[in-house]
Amino acid sequence: MMRMPWFGWQSPATIAEAAKILAGEGPQAMLIAGGTDLVPNMKRRHQTPATLVSLRRVAELRKIANGAGLTLGAGLTLTEIVDSAAVREKYRGFWQAAAQVASPHLRNMGTLGGNLCLDTRCTYYNQSLEWRKAIDYCLKKDGETCWVATASKRCVAVSSTDSAPALISLGAKVKLVSAQGEREVAVADLYKNDGIDYLVRKPEEILTEVVLPDAQGWRSTYWKLRRRGSFDFPVLGVAAAVKLAADGTVEQARLALGAVASRPFLVDKGGEFLKGRKLTDEAIAEAGAIVASRAKPMDNTDLDLYWRKDVVGSFVGHALREIRGDDMRAMRMRIARQAL
Ligand SMILES: Cc1cc2nc3c(=O)[nH]c(=O)nc-3n(C[C@H](O)[C@H](O)[C@H](O)COP(=O)(O)OP(=O)(O)OC[C@H]3O[C@@H](n4cnc5c(N)ncnc54)[C@H](O)[C@@H]3O)c2cc1C
Ligand code: SF4
Repeated sequence: MMRMPWFGWQSPATIAEAAKILAGEGPQAMLIAGGTDLVPNMKRRHQTPATLVSLRRVAELRKIANGAGLTLGAGLTLTEIVDSAAVREKYRGFWQAAAQVASPHLRNMGTLGGNLCLDTRCTYYNQSLEWRKAIDYCLKKDGETCWVATASKRCVAVSSTDSAPALISLGAKVKLVSAQGEREVAVADLYKNDGIDYLVRKPEEILTEVVLPDAQGWRSTYWKLRRRGSFDFPVLGVAAAVKLAADGTVEQARLALGAVASRPFLVDKGGEFLKGRKLTDEAIAEAGAIVASRAKPMDNTDLDLYWRKDVVGSFVGHALREIRGDDMRAMRMRIARQAL
């Protein structure tokens, strides 16, 4: 049995109180929300914080506010996100992403904030302490070599959050709050392409909410590749959000990729290519090729990396055809094993 290391526990009731505790404790403290990522990581000694600051009692983090767009508290569980009619109807891609995270039990515990701040993953890292010790650890934790790219001085562990690419395609922002003040960061700018230092968030900052812009005129979708339909981390996530004119011409488009680098990212050239065009089969194929050229999966997660790269274009095709209005239900069932 893997046991938890010793840790102190703080359970503030407000964001201000949590920020004050983080400022006082320094980087040895970590936030815990649902604990579905952090607890297994602590058991494997990836993270050994001296103090855990629980966000479970912070009611302010559970708000859902409708305005021109939608504001979602970072403490909402993924089940609450999936149950939200506003998310399902206006931000379909994000809803589809949240609905495909892990399993129902994990979505009942896992939060939006935890999903966005999820640790990066790697075959050589997501292992027990004994397993990692047997290979002399690795660059990300306690070692000196990256076993995926031995000449690399940078960890290339994979960003595996489903909600981030969907939120990036929708142009969402997050609010980061610390004892020093607060700032807004676009989800597209929240991540760094570094498997160790993967967030621009500072250790003393709390991600308090996600702000989605008005979705009037936009259609969005998310397609996830994973081995098992029941639950698995993504090995590819394709998110698309497109604003169509009445005659079907693309006014704006954002295409984002997840699980093919240490960060989720926008493929600007894919969106730019579609602007001013109709979603014809030829345009969709060309956009798929542009997006696929940016995917650089590494051999450190499930499924063959060359095949994972090969299918990016097809997944972009599924996403854009769904946005065009094609009936994709059979393909959805084949890939996601559920109607979405
Ligand atoms: C078997 C299994 C399968 C999974 N499959 C998927 C999957 O398919 N897709 C997917 O995306 N995830 C998956 N996960 C990961 C995880 O369950 C979800 O990402 C979940 O949403 C994490 O949220 P949490 O609240 O439990 O995070 P926690 O474990 O509480 O925290 C995760 C990280 O975020 C930080 N954090 C939490 N809240 C905040 C905040 N408000 N501000 C700043 N930092 C914060 C923590 O300090 C920690 O570093 C899986 C996990 C397991 C165990
Ligand atoms: S990518 Fe390399 S350094 Fe990063 S976790 Fe994997 S083996 Fe370790």
